[in-house]
Amino acid sequence: MDRTHAVVVGSTNWDTCMHLPHLPVPGETVAGGRLQAGIGGKGANQAVACHRGGADVHFISAVGDDQTGAGILAEFQTMGLAVSGIKTVPACPTGVACIFIDARGENCIGLTAGANARLTPQTIEQYRELITSAGVVLLQLEIPLETVMSVAQIAAGAGVPVVLNPAPARALPDELLAVVDILTPNRGEAAALAGLYTGSEPGLAAAAKTFLDKGVGRVLVTLGADGAVLFQPKAGAGQAPATQRFAARAVTAVDTTGAGDVFNGVFCAGLVRGLSCEQAIEEAMVAAALAVTREGAIASIPTREEILAFRT
Ligand code: ATP
Repeated sequence: MDRTHAVVVGSTNWDTCMHLPHLPVPGETVAGGRLQAGIGGKGANQAVACHRGGADVHFISAVGDDQTGAGILAEFQTMGLAVSGIKTVPACPTGVACIFIDARGENCIGLTAGANARLTPQTIEQYRELITSAGVVLLQLEIPLETVMSVAQIAAGAGVPVVLNPAPARALPDELLAVVDILTPNRGEAAALAGLYTGSEPGLAAAAKTFLDKGVGRVLVTLGADGAVLFQPKAGAGQAPATQRFAARAVTAVDTTGAGDVFNGVFCAGLVRGLSCEQAIEEAMVAAALAVTREGAIASIPTREEILAFRT
């Protein structure tokens, strides 16, 4: 087994994003909107980021048998992302997110999971070999939890590192955390998962410790413009975890939506290309900083050439 490819398992959506002067209240129609539509979903964003980050990626996902799904598959192919792991679910719509954003950047979102809800553990069985021969497996939480569990357990059983971006946050079973090598919450997700205040350094470390105590290998918390922090267990029971800080690249942010997806995808691309965890974090920081200087989700994800050019 070469273990040179990454597997990303997660959601694919069609995002319809409308910028409005203000958010509508019930019964109101707000005119003057600017429409921005494109591929979204944490799985798709992270798979494309991992691909652009220089990894050989296999994306396992699901779309509906509608025009939207067909269009997304065609667009992935144009990007050079392999689509053989993307199931077209019969008589089912593709996942769609309808996002309203007002002039201050406040948003409200309606989401229909569509085919994402049909990405089942049975579907995953078809890709068992792809998973067990991977160099890293990257997961998020926009598909059924039992599917996330199943992929993580298959990967861990074969010694494949599992990276879990626990977004959107939800309660996670201990059996899942026990097989996660690197957990990558943002500050809010760390708070929600641990049930602790993470607004202070000690609070963040305490939250990380709850995950490490449940068997997570390392905890990498992203902190927006404040960068990221890596927590690793220290030998000796009851010891506070070892902490390593990473500063974000200084940029003028235009649109921070999806920064976490770019970070996770490029981080895993680095790992599968043989970088150390620290080197992969540095590369992910550069990619995410570049992404926040541009509008859009997939459109804002930098290529490897852009990452290298920005780094030097
Ligand atoms: P989102 O939910 O918007 O996808 P997130 O909350 O999961 O994002 P963040 O912690 O906001 O993720 O950001 C992830 C990484 O992106 C950060 O660790 C940092 O490296 C980079 N980043 C985010 N915002 C900025 C910024 N304003 N300037 C520079 N880098 C940034």
